Amino acid sequence: MPELPEVETVRRTLIELVAGKRIASVTVKLPRIIQRPAEPEAFAAALAGRTIQTVERRGKFLRIVLDGLVLVSHLRMEGRYGVFPSDEPVELHTHVLFHFDDGTDLRYKDVRQFGTMHLFEPGTEFEMKPLNKLGLEPLDNDAFSAEALRGLLGKKTGLIKPLLLNQEYVVGLGNIYVDEALFLAGIHPERTADSLKKAEWVLLHEAIVSTLAKAVAAGGSSVKSYVNGQGEMGMFQHQLLVYGRKNEPCTNCGRLIEKSVVGGRGTHTCASCQPYPKARKKAVRQV
Ligand SMILES: [Zn+2]
Repeated sequence: MPELPEVETVRRTLIELVAGKRIASVTVKLPRIIQRPAEPEAFAAALAGRTIQTVERRGKFLRIVLDGLVLVSHLRMEGRYGVFPSDEPVELHTHVLFHFDDGTDLRYKDVRQFGTMHLFEPGTEFEMKPLNKLGLEPLDNDAFSAEALRGLLGKKTGLIKPLLLNQEYVVGLGNIYVDEALFLAGIHPERTADSLKKAEWVLLHEAIVSTLAKAVAAGGSSVKSYVNGQGEMGMFQHQLLVYGRKNEPCTNCGRLIEKSVVGGRGTHTCASCQPYPKARKKAVRQV
């Protein structure tokens, strides 16, 4: 699934490709991708004649801003956009086509068919699903600080990894980048949030920001089949420190990376750099 850096890469690519283009008509081939309005015909009719002004991002959602409308698009597992000449054959699994008046199409392809599109009046998108319950933006320097992170999670008794994955607190962090950030901060994913010291929140905040910034700079990761808007592969997977590196040596201390399950998710750790919480060891023994 694309995480924040991949969606950010798609956003940056899409701006270059579609900003300023005017939509002449829209073809919806798979109605279930369109969540709002309920009728795909109404979706197509509302977009006809509109010009794309910019492309923004909220968490893992793209916000395609048009004159008078906002299209909120989630790629889910394998959704991807591409711009093609209108007379080029349409690839299999292409579900929505935005036909521009300059002879090109923006095409949305999604093999798994899990992606969604919602159309809103500008500004109202933040008051309704799916954007209304999203937490802090980790790349927003003003809102996201070590203090803000600690204020949000510092008193919670849950495990730190599932809390970081919860989009209602911090958006855009998925399994890959949470494992990477916790490793960088030297924090075991099974620590409870309320056990983290003040200095550890500072380390964790720094680790989240630097991991995401490096991944964005590299164009995201291509761990499975992720390809960005222009069809280029993201390169961050070559910089991953723990994710996907089970039984490979830790880049910091040489100990072999372990894989376990935390909160139902495959989790990569170095047992030396991220000590297992003592309190938890004791609790497990007592059970
Ligand atoms: Zn290590």
